[in-house]
Amino acid sequence: MTDDFDLFRISPDHEALRDAVRTLARDKIAVHAAEVDETESFPHDAYSALRASDFHAPHVPEQYGGAGADALATCIVIEEVARACASSSLIPAVNKLGTMPLILAGSEELRRRYLPPVATGEAMFSYALSEREAGSDTASMRTRARADGDEWILNGTKTWITNAGESEYYTVLAVSDPDGRRGANVSAFVVERSDEGVSFGAKERKLGVKGSPTREVHLANVRIPGDRIVGEPGEGLRIALRTLDHTRVTIGAQAVGIAQGALDVALAYVKERKQFGKHIAEFQGVQFMLADMAMALEAARQLVYVAAAKSQRDDPDLPFFGAAAKAQASDAAMRITTDAVQLLGGAGYTRDFPVERMMRDAKITQIYEGTNQVQRIVMARSLLAR
Ligand SMILES: Cc1cc2nc3c(=O)[nH]c(=O)nc-3n(C[C@H](O)[C@H](O)[C@H](O)COP(=O)(O)OP(=O)(O)OC[C@H]3O[C@@H](n4cnc5c(N)ncnc54)[C@H](O)[C@@H]3O)c2cc1C
Repeated sequence: MTDDFDLFRISPDHEALRDAVRTLARDKIAVHAAEVDETESFPHDAYSALRASDFHAPHVPEQYGGAGADALATCIVIEEVARACASSSLIPAVNKLGTMPLILAGSEELRRRYLPPVATGEAMFSYALSEREAGSDTASMRTRARADGDEWILNGTKTWITNAGESEYYTVLAVSDPDGRRGANVSAFVVERSDEGVSFGAKERKLGVKGSPTREVHLANVRIPGDRIVGEPGEGLRIALRTLDHTRVTIGAQAVGIAQGALDVALAYVKERKQFGKHIAEFQGVQFMLADMAMALEAARQLVYVAAAKSQRDDPDLPFFGAAAKAQASDAAMRITTDAVQLLGGAGYTRDFPVERMMRDAKITQIYEGTNQVQRIVMARSLLAR
């Protein structure tokens, strides 16, 4: 039996990790968050600070030179960085997203080649599934991979790729058997930024996470060695979706972090701001809003942590929990950041305070790694299959 005192609570090691990341994010990341957003520039200072503390890709297993953080620890890192700067939190989040296909299904040789540079921070790794005409409907992708002797030749355009151009490596999904069964005709490949024929589109002009470049990846007759396939031919979409089961939990953590950041700002503000001769924190209408925000945030956090534990154990019900954690946390983050803007009144609507940035950043968590409608499809599928 578990010691009663350890029942259902975060371990001291995880709490110590949270303290370390929180301090780093406060001292080295938060200070650049507004500028990164304003100038739409990649957060190089944050990346350096994360690298110096081994928080840039904490999930990489120790045998590949990584910190070997478990799924919950990785979520805590992403949450605490997102609390200060959502764009910066996409560094550890997307490094996990890009490498997860290799961790789940890549050959040992592929892992040995590509995971150590991510672990040391020499390279970042992006994930290229979406296309302009294949968003929620991933199986309708048009990018092609044609076998040519021992090599593959890739052609097409992947869209909305986070950290494209900054990342050295990309997991690219492409149809390798155009006559094959839909969904079972896709394969996954590692493509390098330096491969001949790889180029990038202009940066998307976005509402939020502006410090993280989102660009198209153009593949024009990109010839890669045969051993760059991840898993077997035809397994690509299964690997890509299995990856998302794990990484949706990290987007949930990102949403929790953004929401916590907004609640922190709102709490400090209501204790300072006076109207009608008293601090606005004294109004019950304000107190009820704060209570609702904190209650929704804590519920989301608990679901994310339970989903993280399921991700770590690779439990059979992970697809439900990953989707539920992401949808619940991102919907909560959208409401909480919007209420934080409300609690700051006119000031909240300006760039003098971070809550307007947090509200804009929260929105993407309802959209990427599958929209929240798609999460509900995933949850319903799990329920109905029982
Ligand atoms: C900033 C940003 C970063 C991104 N990063 C990456 C990345 O790194 N890698 C990557 O591969 N992709 C990435 N994406 C793509 C993202 O995952 C897709 O945008 C998302 O999956 C939705 O696809 P779509 O934009 O084509 O929307 P659509 O699929 O066209 O959806 C439009 C609307 O229709 C709804 N809808 C669609 N189908 C259904 C259905 N069956 N039932 C009910 N409603 C439905 C959707 O929920 C949505 O509300 C990113 C996107 C953005 C904006």
